Amino acid sequence: MSPAVWAYSENEGVSNEVASAAVEVAEGASAEAVVVEIGALREGARSPGAKLLLKGPASPQVSPEVAAEALARAAKQAAPMAILIGATRNGREAASRLAAKLSVGCLSDGSKLGTDGSTLTAERNVFAGKVVAKLSCPLPAVATVKVGHYARADAAPGETREVDVGPIQPLVRVVGREKKAAGAVDLRSAKVIVSAGRGVKKKEDLPLLEELAKDMHGALGCSRPLSSDLGWLPEEYHIGLTGVTVRPDLYLAVGISGQLQHIAGIKDSKIVAAINTDKDAPIFQASDYGVVGDLYQLVPALRKALAARR
Ligand SMILES: Cc1cc2nc3c(=O)[nH]c(=O)nc-3n(C[C@H](O)[C@H](O)[C@H](O)COP(=O)(O)OP(=O)(O)OC[C@H]3O[C@@H](n4cnc5c(N)ncnc54)[C@H](O)[C@@H]3O)c2cc1C
Repeated sequence: MSPAVWAYSENEGVSNEVASAAVEVAEGASAEAVVVEIGALREGARSPGAKLLLKGPASPQVSPEVAAEALARAAKQAAPMAILIGATRNGREAASRLAAKLSVGCLSDGSKLGTDGSTLTAERNVFAGKVVAKLSCPLPAVATVKVGHYARADAAPGETREVDVGPIQPLVRVVGREKKAAGAVDLRSAKVIVSAGRGVKKKEDLPLLEELAKDMHGALGCSRPLSSDLGWLPEEYHIGLTGVTVRPDLYLAVGISGQLQHIAGIKDSKIVAAINTDKDAPIFQASDYGVVGDLYQLVPALRKALAARR
């Protein structure tokens, strides 16, 4: 059997990103990328080839400690060269537990993963995105994959293998689940994002940008102060180093200065455009298109121009 690179995430969308990372690593070592599922197969978790279903854990919502134990039991038998896990909150916990169980190294929050056949390599933003650290770890290894860095993999036909890892008792009992409030955004898969910054003077003005986002069939996002400091929007709208990493076709930054911590979350966007009153705002250095001007004049004008084209 050829060596394998496993990809796992408890989140279906992230699983598809980790699958792309696994393909990239596998290519460097003539290995096979395998998407691992625990407990049951999920329709939305695509595989670019083979899937491995770890049977045994009963719960459809697998907790980090159960995921770590299931992966460890299977890895002790199959000996994959690397196990990549989406760097979600749960994924980070699962990866560190797994690495400890297997006594191997763990690269955290990696992007641009690769291998020369003997080490796993990755890049990681440190010091608030000012420095890119190059990391390496001898194989076999565990790594968490930065969410939002890789495009989601396409499905390809491939076999599904099954391994029974036996029952695993969760340490945490889930006593209830609540759906997030309606209107919650999925910025990671949005093709167009209109993002609001401190240039927006008050919360009541946000609908102006929300409407523009709707006109453009896009989603509304924001810089950190609007969610974390002012509480005008929920946390999941906040884009950047400590928020969501996005990669839309078009990112329109409105009244955002463009600090490094914000740019860290948008730099994989295909096109960045900005509206800002300050011609020297750093956002213009990260933009393909920029308009120097007041958002309170430009956004209504843009909406009018879009309406005229419909
Ligand atoms: C550890 C750490 C992590 C961080 N993580 C993040 C992160 O993940 N995401 C993030 O966004 N920030 C993050 N920050 C904060 C970051 O450093 C900036 O403070 C923040 O991004 C600034 O937000 P802003 O651009 O909306 O506001 P400001 O920097 O205040 O910029 C407002 C901009 O609006 C323009 N403007 C004002 N009025 C108008 C108008 N009428 N029309 C058009 N333009 C106008 C101004 O010229 C200015 O450029 C982090 C900071 C730290 C220390």
